[in-house]
Amino acid sequence: MKKVLAFDIDQTLNVAKTPIPDEIADLLIKCLDDFMICPISGQKFDQFLIQIVNRLIERGVNAAQLANLHLFVAQGTQYYRYYPNGYSDKPIQASAATDKAPYDKNNWHLEYDFPLTDEEVEKITTVLEESAKETGYWEEDKLEEGDEIIENRHSMVAFSALGQHAGTAQKYGWDADTKKRQAIVAKAAEKAPEFQYEIGGTTSINAFKKGMNKEFGMTKMLEVLGIEKKDVLYFGDMTQPGGNDYPVVKMGIDTITVRSHEDTAYALRGILGVL
Ligand SMILES: [Mg+2]
Repeated sequence: MKKVLAFDIDQTLNVAKTPIPDEIADLLIKCLDDFMICPISGQKFDQFLIQIVNRLIERGVNAAQLANLHLFVAQGTQYYRYYPNGYSDKPIQASAATDKAPYDKNNWHLEYDFPLTDEEVEKITTVLEESAKETGYWEEDKLEEGDEIIENRHSMVAFSALGQHAGTAQKYGWDADTKKRQAIVAKAAEKAPEFQYEIGGTTSINAFKKGMNKEFGMTKMLEVLGIEKKDVLYFGDMTQPGGNDYPVVKMGIDTITVRSHEDTAYALRGILGVL
């Protein structure tokens, strides 16, 4: 049997950038009794809390189940675990006391981290801004007050053409055929070829050090959890060549391609049904 169920987040567990629905939360809670559950995505830690963890709390997850949740943040370049009784360097032991420990956000512990240097962040930020301006797709005038196009996510830099707060409909219409982002990426890759540029979501480009994609994150996951590829079942929506889930497929990890969280729910019900 598989030991790990690993998930892309946006469009796999939720509608992109929104908290996971009740049904997914309830299914994940059930799965936490039998599997290590590993979301891995380019989002920041706070987004993992908003989109997944807080929803699980609302739906009644207990502390022992949370200890089976492993967060692979920023494409797995950061790894967080939950220690029901507060962080200690000893392994987490299940016990009745652990089960009942009240949830505390401070019990999340950063186990490892591979950040970009300040110079690398600076370089990518400059290159993305220049490239968007030169191609005519720097949309600063469309931003909401206080919003930003380029965001430092610690181990990657994220470009969101219309900012973080733009509406979904507006974003879907901006670059449906990805041509605008391909043009920006082509320019950026010319200027700074030492970085990798991945098109994701509806208006985003993620830039990071070469090789720091989901293959890096999944490889670290196998290492820290002490498991093999065959122990993992991965769910993702962008598994086609060039998609941000494709590196996982290429590694030879069993993968289920989903169109949306509805497909994921369907597959999870099947898995829970045969346990
Ligand atoms: Mg996705």
